[in-house]
Amino acid sequence: KYNTEINLKKSKKSANKNLLNDDKLNTANNIKEMKYIEKLNKSGYNLSINNLDLLLSNEPNFSPKLILRKEFNIFDLEKRVGHKNVLPIMGRILLDSFGLINDKIMPIDKLDSFLISIANQYFATTLYHNSLHGSDITHTICLFFNNSNAEEVCHTKAIDLLSIIVSGLGHDIGHPGLTNNFQVNSLSDLAITYNDNSCLENYHLAKLFKTLRKDETNIFEKLTTQDFKKIRKKMVSEILATDMVHHGENITLIRSKIKAWQEVGGGQTRFNLLTGNEKTKFDEQQLLLNYLIHMADLGHNTKKFEISRTWVKLLCEEFWKQGDKEKSKGLPISFMCDRNNTDVPGSQVGFLRGFIVSSFDCLVSMFPNLRFTIENAENNIKEWQKLQDEKNLLGFTQEKDKEKKEEEEVIESENIDEVD
Ligand code: AMP
Ligand code: ZN
Repeated sequence: KYNTEINLKKSKKSANKNLLNDDKLNTANNIKEMKYIEKLNKSGYNLSINNLDLLLSNEPNFSPKLILRKEFNIFDLEKRVGHKNVLPIMGRILLDSFGLINDKIMPIDKLDSFLISIANQYFATTLYHNSLHGSDITHTICLFFNNSNAEEVCHTKAIDLLSIIVSGLGHDIGHPGLTNNFQVNSLSDLAITYNDNSCLENYHLAKLFKTLRKDETNIFEKLTTQDFKKIRKKMVSEILATDMVHHGENITLIRSKIKAWQEVGGGQTRFNLLTGNEKTKFDEQQLLLNYLIHMADLGHNTKKFEISRTWVKLLCEEFWKQGDKEKSKGLPISFMCDRNNTDVPGSQVGFLRGFIVSSFDCLVSMFPNLRFTIENAENNIKEWQKLQDEKNLLGFTQEKDKEKKEEEEVIESENIDEVD
């Protein structure tokens, strides 16, 4: 039943055929797929281990080749398979594409239970920080590795890749849609439990490891005690690194490290991280992995505008719901959280210029094949700028209309005075 290798091979085969653009085959596959999705729909998209296997083997478009494209649109997948199914599907495909699903590293039956459990622990009612975001950051991590020589530069072994992919999947589980700032200002239970320090990130980690501790979802059961300790240390470091408060100091550090790692020889730039003792090697690799997960967490800003704009819309809606709560509780309204007073295009131009371009610059200097990230971000700046100009123009026209109306009212009242 759980022989995914066979199932995945089957799906790869049909995906390749599909790539040949055979219309007849496409139609046949579409009908098959539609029927399957209809069936899933009837069951209320209740994904179970059995139908995850079935879904993967029936869906020709779930091949790593198609999913690991820069143009991949996660919202399209969501429309096709339903919100809760995206993370288990992506998890299976991405882990498999890095050869991490096998009986030595990770047994498949535990993996499916784990993925479904993680997907269920995200809240679909949290508009941005939900399981789609968990899937998206993982997709971006895999894009980075797939499109660059990061594996070579970071000297990653299976356990390192496993750590960063599983961290990506679970890095925001249980997110309530209320930021750390809100937790601290409202003296919430999370703020008390974690003493105001990276409350959400600590909470996500705790939930993730409680899931991993359960027998039925323990995907790490095959690891030796030593390897388990190692992967836990790595995941704790990676998920804590997603707290935006560390952004500035981390980018400064990585920038200076890049200079230190850089070696120029024969006109070629190479990066040599792993020198020194074991501890230094571990720390340097971890620094880079932490940086990669943080960049992937901000990665939607470097996707095509159509996709990025959807994420921004969801983020703003989530922020504004928080702002409503802050208002009703008499708390200070956090940045970008006031629905009546947020200049969305302006804030985006600022965020992309201030946070994205400067931090993805380091990524591209190490991995030039990832230049598409900066190019998309630059294009997104232009698009938001256009929207801001339109907004300003609209504001200007509205202002002019208002002035004109006021003038007309004054003239009218003067005329009335004269008649009197
Ligand atoms: P995380 O909460 O772990 O997903 O960390 C990423 C954080 O970066 C988000 O919570 C936002 O606060 C911030 N962020 C990402 N993209 C944007 C954006 N386009 N505009 C404003 N803030 C953003
Ligand atoms: Zn995140």
